[in-house]
Amino acid sequence: MTVDTPDLVRLFVEDARAVSIEAAAKVLGLIFKSSAAEHPQPCPQCGGTDTFAFNTSKQKWNCRTGGAGGNDAIGMAAHCFGLDAHRRDGFLEACSIVLARPVPDHAGSSAVGTALLERIEQRQLHNRAEASAKAERQAGFRERERAKAVAIYDAAAPVGRYGRLVADYLEARGCGHIGASRWLRHASALPYWHGQDDGRPRELHRGPAMVAPFIGPDLLAIGCHITWIDLTRPPKYRPLLVDQLTGETLPTKKMRGSKKGGLIPLFGEPHAARWVGGEGIENGAAFAAWEGWRGDTFYFAAGDLGNLAGPAEVSSRFAHPTLNRLDSKGIARPVMVAGPLPKADRAREDAMWVAEHVSELVLLADGDSERVMTAAAMARARARHARPGRLIPIVWPRDGCDFAGIAAGARA
Ligand SMILES: [Zn+2]
Repeated sequence: MTVDTPDLVRLFVEDARAVSIEAAAKVLGLIFKSSAAEHPQPCPQCGGTDTFAFNTSKQKWNCRTGGAGGNDAIGMAAHCFGLDAHRRDGFLEACSIVLARPVPDHAGSSAVGTALLERIEQRQLHNRAEASAKAERQAGFRERERAKAVAIYDAAAPVGRYGRLVADYLEARGCGHIGASRWLRHASALPYWHGQDDGRPRELHRGPAMVAPFIGPDLLAIGCHITWIDLTRPPKYRPLLVDQLTGETLPTKKMRGSKKGGLIPLFGEPHAARWVGGEGIENGAAFAAWEGWRGDTFYFAAGDLGNLAGPAEVSSRFAHPTLNRLDSKGIARPVMVAGPLPKADRAREDAMWVAEHVSELVLLADGDSERVMTAAAMARARARHARPGRLIPIVWPRDGCDFAGIAAGARA
């Protein structure tokens, strides 16, 4: 019996589907950081600083700049090499990268017989069983992580009578003086977990923090956003956290539980007709202070650009006018930018929710992020959240600044 090329290609694809994120990251030459499962770094395709990450325990990867992500090695390889995994040739090339072997062609066809067909079938069965076990593990992990995130938020004190430190932090960051917030909370000694000690999570730091919820349209918390605070350290007033193994400086913010499709409420109530917000908390609060905390407005933060704008339609990707990167053969190619058009088939959880009744949605751009990618993402956010009769102005800070920086500078 002869086995033709399609069978070899099917086996090849099934083999590629079985490759773990960790194995693919090694093949792709991505950077592994210390002992944690999360490995943030610049995106090989889009650049940035810590905007790309893969996670070996959750089997996930994501690129905030490119507005892309997923839970398979093939998709990650396609993104890192700028391949279109929705097209057959791009998909097969990505498979070939993670397997580090060429796509079988006619020259490779053989007459191996039923043994190969059986191997294909076993591989498929194995992959399907793995996929459903993985989905189950992830659902359990998500549920536990979500419960932990909500518990952290519930245990924190409302900003007002007790949480003066959060108000002092925001004031120091140029966000004016807030009396109280229904949403923002204060934890006086929140542990910061990083890395492991004898297989157990290590407490790297413990200190005061601002805790904000991620909420869904039902206003219930699905996750939380944590900012550790150190009022003795201007200009950002956040602690210096260093990984002892690698010497790298760690982020002082963490998001836990779910964020997808949710938003961080800052001030005011979601039933307001006017909403104002951008990526970060400090930026939104600084803008709110600048316009005098309007009583008719709900101020929010999306957490990151991906959650603000949602994923892009692949066909709207374009080459960056000035930025280049080196491909695997050392040839300079333009960085591809996620385009201004939202993906045609939109899932509700792809981006933050905006209530239907909102008639004015003011979107705040981050001036200290890469200009072209940010502009494309802001246009995408406007297109995604557009409704008949809704105004969506985009506000830009001065070049190279954000609103928090401008506000802090004006104060000084
Ligand atoms: Zn990217």
